[in-house]
Amino acid sequence: MLVITGALVLPSTRGQGRRWLMAASLPFLVGFLAAAVFGLDYAFPSQWLETVGVTFVIAAFSAGWYVVRNFTGRSARLALALLFPFSYALLSALIFIPWQLEAAEAVYRTAATLVLNGLIARDLAPGRAPELPSRPVLRGVFLIFAVLAAFRIVLSPWLPSPLGAATSQAWSVAAYNFGIVIQALVTAVLLVALAREREAARNEAMSLQDPMTGALNRRALERHGAVVAIGGQPLTVLAFDLDHFKRINDRFGHSVGDAVICTAVETARSVLREDDAVFRLGGEEFACVLRGVTPEVGVSVAERLCRSFEEAGRNVAGQRVGATMSVGIASAPAGAAIDLEDLIAEADRGLYRAKNRGRNQVAEAA
Ligand code: GH3
Ligand code: MG
Ligand code: MG
Repeated sequence: MLVITGALVLPSTRGQGRRWLMAASLPFLVGFLAAAVFGLDYAFPSQWLETVGVTFVIAAFSAGWYVVRNFTGRSARLALALLFPFSYALLSALIFIPWQLEAAEAVYRTAATLVLNGLIARDLAPGRAPELPSRPVLRGVFLIFAVLAAFRIVLSPWLPSPLGAATSQAWSVAAYNFGIVIQALVTAVLLVALAREREAARNEAMSLQDPMTGALNRRALERHGAVVAIGGQPLTVLAFDLDHFKRINDRFGHSVGDAVICTAVETARSVLREDDAVFRLGGEEFACVLRGVTPEVGVSVAERLCRSFEEAGRNVAGQRVGATMSVGIASAPAGAAIDLEDLIAEADRGLYRAKNRGRNQVAEAA
């Protein structure tokens, strides 16, 4: 347990993932404390030391639940998690030990691990935890140990301690420790994998984004092309470029120019639906991919974008900039084989028509 704790604390990742892994070592550290108390109990046998040891075992699972909730971004209820070890210690001191209720004690401590394993598995369910490759594997581990705990409760009168309530035997102690060590090892490996997978997913998302505007970049567009090609819906592409942007830069400076570019992306976001993708193709050139949108609807969306930006671009960063944009539009009908690059090139031809016709307007390719 101490080795696992060390392995998690050692720098295996950077940044947020590293901080989380350090926190994730807590259950293993508590598990080490439990083992240390059991070692002491072996040297100086006492029912109280045993109770403290078991309390630490339950606390280790509570800490595990706390860590997993933290990972999934849910409010980690530390007080609720600590209820399990505390209630065990309290019941042992007040009821189980004075009344010598070994069977009840065995059922209670096994039920606590059953519930905690189950809670961890529940918080790792699809949709509750981030969708990463190691998530279902880790969930499976906790489900298996929850089921094993359930069997141990049912068989408790016959199973020797610490598996059940019958008189302890060498094999039951070995089997119990074997189970704990296997669960701890597999969990630790999967926690490291989860931290790395989450970091990789974040880096990938970042590599597809333009940092200034938050719009998607060209690399994302290449990937998007594959997604679009398999959809059997009509598709409309808008290409837009800001009008006389060089003049805006010259008159108001680059930082105002940047603010105008950001305003354009914000305007596109407000006009488009949530999952319509906005790509920044170049400095002040953008493309929007609207899935399931017919040419007729596409034109009205493009008009709305043009008019909204005329409004939003009037005053930017406290300056009367009066920025506008020109929009080109191209569509592919449902079922057509779509080459996104071709469609964008067609929308681009529409865009240049709009520029030639006097800018601040929408046009299709001839
Ligand atoms: P047109 O109406 O024909 O599009 O005229 P334009 O002046 O906008 O011409 P063009 O689209 O070629 O201008 C692009 C300019 O945008 C050139 C470059 O200095 C500026 N630019 C490109 N990227 C950025 C950026 O990130 N920030 C700022 N402030 N300016 C940028
Ligand atoms: Mg321009
Ligand atoms: Mg341009």
